Amino acid sequence: MNNIELGNLIYPSLPHTPEEYEAIYPPRKLPAGAMVTRLGPSPTGFIHLGNLYGAFVDERLAYQSQGVFYLRIEDTDEKRSVENAVETIISSLDFFDIRFNEGVTPEGDIGDYGSYTQSQRKDIYQTFAKQLLADGMAYPCFLTEEDLNSIRSEQEELKITPGVYAGWSRYRDWSSSREIADEITKRIKAGDEFVIRLKSQGKPNASAEETKRHEINDAIRGKLSVPYNFQDVVIIKRTGIPTYHFAHVVDDHLMRTTHVVRGEEWLSSLPIHIELFEALGWELPVYCHTAQLMKIDESGNKRKLSKRKDPELSLDYYRSEGYHPASVREYLMTILNSDFEEWRAENLEADINEFNFTMEKMSGSGALFDLNKLNDVSKNTLLRTEVSEIACWLRDWSREFAPEYAYVFENMDTLEKLLDIGRHDARPRADLVYARQIMDFIGYFFDESFKIQDEYPDEVRSDAKTILEKYLETYNYSDDNGAWFAKVRSIASELGYALKPKDFKKNPQDYKGHVGHVSSVIRIAVTGKTQSPDLWTIQQIMGEDKVRQRISACLKED
Ligand code: GLU
Repeated sequence: MNNIELGNLIYPSLPHTPEEYEAIYPPRKLPAGAMVTRLGPSPTGFIHLGNLYGAFVDERLAYQSQGVFYLRIEDTDEKRSVENAVETIISSLDFFDIRFNEGVTPEGDIGDYGSYTQSQRKDIYQTFAKQLLADGMAYPCFLTEEDLNSIRSEQEELKITPGVYAGWSRYRDWSSSREIADEITKRIKAGDEFVIRLKSQGKPNASAEETKRHEINDAIRGKLSVPYNFQDVVIIKRTGIPTYHFAHVVDDHLMRTTHVVRGEEWLSSLPIHIELFEALGWELPVYCHTAQLMKIDESGNKRKLSKRKDPELSLDYYRSEGYHPASVREYLMTILNSDFEEWRAENLEADINEFNFTMEKMSGSGALFDLNKLNDVSKNTLLRTEVSEIACWLRDWSREFAPEYAYVFENMDTLEKLLDIGRHDARPRADLVYARQIMDFIGYFFDESFKIQDEYPDEVRSDAKTILEKYLETYNYSDDNGAWFAKVRSIASELGYALKPKDFKKNPQDYKGHVGHVSSVIRIAVTGKTQSPDLWTIQQIMGEDKVRQRISACLKED
């Protein structure tokens, strides 16, 4: 039996040859420099910030170069697949404005390079595994779990690298042993289980100086010196399904991917991937290994974001808390590109898509994720967002995640006015951060959520009722802001409060307090809090009746 016969024995009836697949999936006709990127999530049901982070890079690269960004579902690990995961992936990314040009969609595949689901591409992987068998670059291996365990123990004793490589699988050099060749033939015909392994050309256990290295350019990390692989890794599992290593190599080649953006956890298997590309005679895509997302935890240590400990790793967190997608994009861009914030400061109104994203500006070491910073970015992003859009977005959010706030959306006009208070001042108020916080922030306005939260300042406590009584007597809804405040001042001076805080500070013995304390009483009666946006404006939006009701309610309390 020769190599070709072995390939035919294992895969007697595949529908196409490698050459035919090359013709079915020809090089793409795209403008020079166009990048083809992909997101290859596994359908585990958990879609996280790292996926979004990577997807954002993919999407920007393809978009900016008039290339293609496609979605491929990597479901070769059956144990990890969960139902509806694909829908979750697509809808979560869509929410953050990440759109694919090609690939899996809820309505089926779009594009000429499908199927875009790995479990539907078995024939393709097997065709190329067959090619490797025929070229003497792969072999069937019948080692059992027990065999593998005893190999490992022996290697541990010898203090050498564990794994299956030259000298450790008796099937590797089958062609030089009649006996093993016969065993293989017999066992394949008998239907015994086996895997297909790469027959690595690397030199096992070479000293550091002897180890050959590939020099490759990672688009984010720059020059990488990658040691040669020498492990005979599994390329096709017992089930006939490929491993990630093999599947992504075949897919990225046939789908004509130019740039592979993926997490740095894949760096350690890069030697395997390079060897697989070489064994198949294909050009390597440009690898772009992104940095891990890190956070500073409660004890001040920098660590990787963890699925178990950090709810903010899940994209669901941002949706259910109600972060505006533009805020999250904006924030991710600040972590992705070090010059983004500067650009934003100079281009306040510009669409984020006008920013020229580059991989050179990405950091190769841990990207620090910080919720406080996200909140700051979000405040500014919302300040630039039309209030009508914010109102509609809040309503959509509430329908999905917080129907208990339905009353907030009964009058959208009022809501818009409320959200808009102070946003056009010389120093605009940036009060709006994310939906749940906004509901709390504007809660004072609605009777359903209004409650007195703060206490009157000590300086005015004994006068509070008198202040409110006088306020009710003089309050006139038609007063403009100036006239309204003049009345508050006159109540203040009548009752012995300084008109300017600094006068009170200078001569505290001459006053009970200052006008700010007086207006605090009114503010607390109307909004329940000592801090609020402009009180006159709030009252204008509330309408006279409601203002009077709230003041009267406070007067009734003991
Ligand atoms: N399926 C891999 C994962 O979900 C993707 C790795 C890649 O992008 O190549 O981790």
